[in-house]
Amino acid sequence: MNFLEERILKDGLVKEGNVLKVDTFLNHQMDVELLDEIGKEFHRRFADVNITKVLTIEASGIAIAYAVARCFGVPMVFAKKAKSINIDGDMYTAEVESFTHKNKNQVIVSKKVLSSDDRLLIVDDFLANGCALQGLISIAEAAGASVEGICIVIEKGFQYGGRSIRNLGYRLESLAIVESMDHETQTVVFRDQSE
Ligand code: 5GP
Repeated sequence: MNFLEERILKDGLVKEGNVLKVDTFLNHQMDVELLDEIGKEFHRRFADVNITKVLTIEASGIAIAYAVARCFGVPMVFAKKAKSINIDGDMYTAEVESFTHKNKNQVIVSKKVLSSDDRLLIVDDFLANGCALQGLISIAEAAGASVEGICIVIEKGFQYGGRSIRNLGYRLESLAIVESMDHETQTVVFRDQSE
């Protein structure tokens, strides 16, 4: 079991509706030491890749993407959730459906901060059905940038996002893959990634 899986078992809460709460260490209160460890671990896993930028989506991806970008020594860009009224031709846009809030958001990235010269590492906190990642990938494609890898802190392996993103051929690394979880018993079972 790795450091993140141990922390999820210690402090994670399984809510109804297939939601795992990690509010005390990852996406409300943040354990900055843990974020540093996460950054170092992704840096180790993608050490062979030459990247120019880290791309994420607000809000909960930002701190994680910062930790990763710090280790690679590159800038970090976060896609902003926007009112469609603000959108003009200087922006790349994508529509993203929120798994936790069940609403749709336009997300935008300024054309000033992404270009066809960029080689990206995409980072997010959770992977469920993959809408957030698909939105970020479509923004990268619109910019002509390459997606060199995808870093997910917690993948819920019983939802289809991970499978569909891997089937598209992307190199996706998840620090913890939850195979199953149960609200009644508060049990979380992880996929064995040791091989
Ligand atoms: P997807 O777009 O893959 O369906 O969902 C990913 C996004 O939804 C993440 O950016 C994350 O913010 C949120 N999310 C999905 N599942 C969970 C969960 O179980 N717990 C929390 N805290 N956020 C989740």
